[in-house]
Parts: sequence; C-alpha cells; structure tokens
Amino acid sequence: MGMDRIAGSAIIDGKRFAAGLLEDMKLRVESARQKTGKVPGLAVVLVGTDPASAVYVGAKHRQTVAAGMRSFKYELPADTGQAELMALIGRLNVAPDVHGILVQLPLPAHLDAAAVIQEINPDKDVDGFHISNAGRLSTGQPALVPCTPLGCLMLLKDQLGQSLSGLHAVVIGKSNIVGKPMAQLLLAENCTVTIAHSRTKNTPELCRAADILVVAVGRPGLVRGDWIKPGAVVMDVGINRIEVDGKSRIVGDVAFEEAGHAAAITPVPGGVGPMTIACLLSNTLTAFCRLNAISAD
Ligand code: NAP
Repeated sequence: MGMDRIAGSAIIDGKRFAAGLLEDMKLRVESARQKTGKVPGLAVVLVGTDPASAVYVGAKHRQTVAAGMRSFKYELPADTGQAELMALIGRLNVAPDVHGILVQLPLPAHLDAAAVIQEINPDKDVDGFHISNAGRLSTGQPALVPCTPLGCLMLLKDQLGQSLSGLHAVVIGKSNIVGKPMAQLLLAENCTVTIAHSRTKNTPELCRAADILVVAVGRPGLVRGDWIKPGAVVMDVGINRIEVDGKSRIVGDVAFEEAGHAAAITPVPGGVGPMTIACLLSNTLTAFCRLNAISAD
C-alpha cells in the first residue's frame, strides 16, 4: 500500500493501513456481538501523570470506543502501592466484561512492572508481554503477540505478499517489547533471521544482506543509506524527538532521505506507529473471541 515515493522507494502508509484495519474491526466487533450478545471490553490502567502516557491512554480509549468496544479507564495516583495495583489486576482478570487488560508503561519507579505484567491473566494480556504469551509465540502456539511487531508483520505482508518464506530478515534491537517478538514472528514466517544489538560487531554488513530490515533502537539516523540492500523493505520502528532549526521533530532510526534505493520504507511518523493501537484493538477482539470460543471473523 505504498503511497508516495522517496527516489525509487515506496513510502509505506501505515496511517492509511491502520485506518483500514479499524474499519474492518468495526464490522468484526459487530459480528462478534451478534454471535454472543456481548461486546469486547478493554481495561487500560494508568498510574501517575506522565504526559506522554496520558496521551497514549487517551488515544487508546478513543479508538476502542470508535471500534464499537467498551473502554474501561483506571487512572490511579502516582503513589499507588504494589498490592493495590496487583489487587486491581486480580479483579480485572475475572471481570466478565473485560477481555483485554493493558497496564500503561512505564510505571512509577517504586512499582515492580515485571511482577504486575506477570499478574495479568495471559488470556487477557493484549500487550502480549506475559511470559506465557512470549513462550507461546516462540513455540508456535496461539499467543497474544506484542502490538508493534504484529503491526510491522502486517505491513510487511501487505508489501511483500503473504509469504515471507526464505527471505533474510535482520532485526536491530532485542527488547522484549519489539526486537525479540519481531524476530520470533519472522522466524514463524520461515524467514532466516539475524538479530543485531548494541554489542554486535558488524551491524552494517549484516544489514546489507537483509531483504527485510527492521530497526527498533531509538537512535536517530543510526541506519545509513549504505547499510540498506537495494530492493530491501525497511521497517523503521524508532521514535526520536530531535531539534531541527530550533523546532522539535519526530524522526526514526533510519536516515530516511538516504533510503531511496530500498523497495519500500515506513516513514516516521505515519509508518509503524499508527499500527500499534490498531493491533491492540485487534488483540482485544482476538482475546474476546478465544474467551467466548467463537471464530474471529
Ligand atoms: P529498548 O528497550 O531501549 O531497546 C533498544 C535496543 O536497541 C536494545 O536491544 C539495544 O541493544 C539496541 N541498540 C542500542 N544501541 C544500538 C546500536 N548502536 N546498534 C545496534 N543496536 C543498538 O527500546 P524499544 O522499547 O525496543 O524501542 C526501540 C525504539 O522503538 C524506540 O525509539 C521506541 O520509542 C520505539 N518504539 C516505537 C513503538 C511504536 O511505533 N508504536 C513502540 C515501541 C517502541 P542491547 O539490548 O544490547 O542494549
């Protein structure tokens, strides 16, 4: 679904793709409602007043409602204790009208985020961060998959056709949120997968062999044009705020204007970013369908 072009490469319009997914979601939510008499519900838990987190939570709430689902927002004070937060998760785990639970990260420093994530019922873990979902993904069982890599995979399939089999994919970054699940998803598609990270010695050479290059680091301009194989498809996951001529701009991890020889590349903003909330809603619908033992279409 490339829209514009930079030199020879298609610019992948993630915003438009995500809008299409949301339209499709409305129909699937309505179909699920007709089958069960219920609608999917997503609970989002925000602790504290981090402004960026508040913006993300607001956007998730609006899009959940727009898709025809129920949205439950829990805004807790910054000094909420671990036991209180765990107790809320415990209640949401068994609440019949809640099918997805998301705890907005980062949590205030006094809270143990890892313990909170492991407390979430894996069947409602729509961020896909629970150890049980990570294990399911890596062993090929039905899992709830982290939203950003899931969105990348959808864009890649749209660009390259449904089969990615045999392609060489290089993923830069090995976080539990993006890099590792991305690598697992590509492996499950029968790509040959290389993971590079901060200690990798020959990252540019590895990248030059990549048919698919996914960059999830958080360093503006890390990937230069000569790291990109002609004809590769590049997914730039990075979100970095920089100053240009005294003005604040959001850029990715790839030197975008040097990537004209790629077959296609995601812009930042407007590429991978918009896919994340769309995939969160898709995961909520998936969780709803599994919990109600109905098909997802
Ligand atoms: P993270 O947890 O900080 O992980 C960054 C990874 O990059 C680490 O694995 C690190 O290696 C690796 N790295 C650091 N410097 C490197 C270098 N010079 N060369 C190669 N690898 C290097 O970050 P994250 O949560 O995965 O997020 C990555 C980026 O994606 C950030 O910009 C974030 O804002 C963005 N993001 C976007 C979305 C979205 O679009 N919705 C969602 C999530 C994240 P080590 O493991 O060796 O330290």
